[in-house]
Amino acid sequence: MSETKILLSEKEMPTKWYNIQADMPNLPKPPLNPATKQPAGPGDLSPIFPMALILQEVSQERWIEIPEEVREIYKLWRPSPLCRARRLEKALDTPAKIYYKYEGVSPAGSHKLNTAVAQAYYNKEAGIKRLATETGAGQWGVALSQACNFFGLECTVYMVKVSYHQKPYRRSVMQIFGADCIASPSNLTNSGRQILEKDPESLGSLGIAISEAVEDAAGRDDTNYALGSVLNHVALHQSVLGLEAKEQLAKVDAYPDVVIACCGGGSNFAGIAFPFAHDKIVSGAKVRLVAVEPSSCPTLTRGHYAYDFGDVAGFTPLLWMYTLGKDFMPPGIHAGGLRYHGDSPLVSQIVHDGIAEARAYGQTAVFESAVLFAKSEGVVPAPESSHAIHHAVVEAIAAKEAGEARTILFNLSGHGLLDLPSYDAYLSGKLEDYPLPEENLKRALEQLPEV
Ligand SMILES: *Cc1c(COP(=O)(O)O)cnc(C)c1O
Repeated sequence: MSETKILLSEKEMPTKWYNIQADMPNLPKPPLNPATKQPAGPGDLSPIFPMALILQEVSQERWIEIPEEVREIYKLWRPSPLCRARRLEKALDTPAKIYYKYEGVSPAGSHKLNTAVAQAYYNKEAGIKRLATETGAGQWGVALSQACNFFGLECTVYMVKVSYHQKPYRRSVMQIFGADCIASPSNLTNSGRQILEKDPESLGSLGIAISEAVEDAAGRDDTNYALGSVLNHVALHQSVLGLEAKEQLAKVDAYPDVVIACCGGGSNFAGIAFPFAHDKIVSGAKVRLVAVEPSSCPTLTRGHYAYDFGDVAGFTPLLWMYTLGKDFMPPGIHAGGLRYHGDSPLVSQIVHDGIAEARAYGQTAVFESAVLFAKSEGVVPAPESSHAIHHAVVEAIAAKEAGEARTILFNLSGHGLLDLPSYDAYLSGKLEDYPLPEENLKRALEQLPEV
């Protein structure tokens, strides 16, 4: 029997990131300065990002060297394993082969550390002393606090208030690594104070927390801002996922028919899928790429393709992306990392161009597959990642019905051991689906900025 866990040695770890901008038939329209609505130049971004990351944002070089210092830290958990989910295949009685790339082995418990380490490194190199960021359920805050700790940077994390109170464990982890974790909206920023004036009980949202972090970073010379998803440089750093997976599959003479990842801001999907999109664009590989989102926050499947802000206050550049509108308030589903109104412009463009496709599922179906996966493979998956698992299950069942061999690769973006209240809700039958009503969607989209 062939291998169940396909490993690479440290020596086989990629030395370069893959930049899909070199190969896309159409690049997204450029980001716009939020005030002038003119294309944003490096000068618009330099108050909050180091020049190295701004250059990566616009680079069309296909391969970008991973700095030695970043690779050294990657070695704490990379290359991550690629696993064959044999017991899941058996449970589903499917002829399909199911492989998953497991990012839960990172010290942060998710893929987010891949970009956090790179971003902390470039900021340190630029002489920055402190990073400010936002976090929803806390995975990004944990990853950035670890990365800042490795490079001796201070770290301030604005954490969406509802999660700050409901999910104290990740807050504790951030504090272990020395980060200052603040419930958002806070009274430390103008944007936070404005929200609190209107609604003192506001539970916060990712869009509000981003406004607070950007305002903090823009107001201090020693401080920059870091974003855990959406932007091109984040997609670039995550390409280690797909590059490693491709090498690992090659070791067992396999190539996927379908590559699947959950999609919040798009970074883990970009990471696993873009190196395969390369094969599809450049050499006509017949691989399908599927981004999976919650039906309660269906950005790619029901959003508009338009310019929109990344945050609620409208501080960020306008990005050309699929969006539900910056004021869209997603219901409190348990996959906190998938509750973002927008999406990566690069992912949006390849979906728009038909190179990738998108699916949306309700959370009860997603948790059912999550528990099936946990019982089969022994890993408790993050609720976000479970969206990818669910679609992998759908593909495996379709393969069985068609009596067809099919090689399925999905990204298991993180483990769910700090998400147990979500599993409690599922197991006690309290989990509900919140399909987005058409009228709510219409209302949110009416607020899109005029360009
Ligand atoms: C943040 C997060 C996501 C969603 O973010 P993307 O940028 O879409 O990848 C998915 N899974 C896990 C485990 C996360 O922490």
